[in-house]
Amino acid sequence: MFDKQLSELAAHHLTRRLTPIQSGVGPMVEIAGRQILLLASNDYLGLAGHPEVIQSAIEATQQFGAGAGASRLLSGSLPPHQELESALAQFKGTEAALTFSSGYLANIGTIPTLIGRDGLILADRLCHASLIDGCRLSAADFRIYRHNDVSHLQSLLAKRRNGRRTLIVTDGLFSMDGDLAPLPELSRLAQDYEADLYIDDAHGTGVMGPHGRGTAEHFGLDTQIPFQMGTLGKAFGSSGAYLAGPSALIRYLINTSRSFIFTTAPPPSSAAAATAALRVMQREPERRARLWANRERLFSGLLRLGFNLSPSVSPIIPILVGNAEAALSFAEHLLAEGVYAPAIRPPTVPDETSRVRVTVTSEHQPSHIDHALIAFQRAGQLAGLI
Ligand SMILES: *Cc1c(COP(=O)(O)O)cnc(C)c1O
Repeated sequence: MFDKQLSELAAHHLTRRLTPIQSGVGPMVEIAGRQILLLASNDYLGLAGHPEVIQSAIEATQQFGAGAGASRLLSGSLPPHQELESALAQFKGTEAALTFSSGYLANIGTIPTLIGRDGLILADRLCHASLIDGCRLSAADFRIYRHNDVSHLQSLLAKRRNGRRTLIVTDGLFSMDGDLAPLPELSRLAQDYEADLYIDDAHGTGVMGPHGRGTAEHFGLDTQIPFQMGTLGKAFGSSGAYLAGPSALIRYLINTSRSFIFTTAPPPSSAAAATAALRVMQREPERRARLWANRERLFSGLLRLGFNLSPSVSPIIPILVGNAEAALSFAEHLLAEGVYAPAIRPPTVPDETSRVRVTVTSEHQPSHIDHALIAFQRAGQLAGLI
């Protein structure tokens, strides 16, 4: 029934397949019976496998059950969710926070409640798909500005109808490019034009800023961005997401956000694991230091080998290839050399910007990275990239 559509995808080298991992939480995992170095995880601080995080999940499961049983408005709100939300609000320096079952749900459930008919949304061209879907679900008009192009954004703001409510939407740290949104400029424009700024800091949370509070902290803008979304499935090593902001906003979301109201609450274990992860990441800042040292080692090594890297400033290091077929072939050569890093193709990224997306974590040893660089060199030569 879908054969025609699937062969169309195959003809364009856009078929996606799952790569089964037999065991391991990284950095070494078993794929097809071989030990492979994983350079693809967003578990940036290695917290998914941390004993204290795992123990908290086990205890919450024993105490409250494997699942939450219902939406929190239906069957009551459990202690792990409450504890997580107050810890997150404190961490982000906001009055309150609300957790969602995933980042995707947080974005599609928040944006339409923030702005509706008569409003205008201006979003960065490289925003995450969940932000785009959230914008589409809102009844507001929706325009795209060129990636990180502050003057393009300003011209759109200047052209809009007087007094029109406006929401500016951006990733903090871009998931497929590894660069940062120019938050100081965006924040200033938002003030000048009386617009609101919404940032999705899925990748920045735990990674950016002196305390890992995210991209806003990195720019010294801690308390100046009203709507901050982050996820718990990346540096937090668990799953779920949060929206941190003023308490009136949080109360409003509890009343109106469809992806909060009409879905089962995250399992108590995920919430407890996220709270434990937050505790560990604050207590062990050396994890972030190791992450950044690994990032420098890998980034400078890849640059030395002559790869075409995107202008990344983060642990997300995309190696630009161009067409989808070449990106796939590079990823296959890498896997043959013992390294797993995925080819990222349209529609995740724009046409002819296919890439292999490499991520490092705090758990890689310097020797892992040195071995990986040898694999990158061989695979890069075989794929004709260097
Ligand atoms: C991963 C990601 C999401 C989705 O978060 P999940 O919790 O995985 O659903 C949203 N926005 C960005 C920028 C992401 O990278």
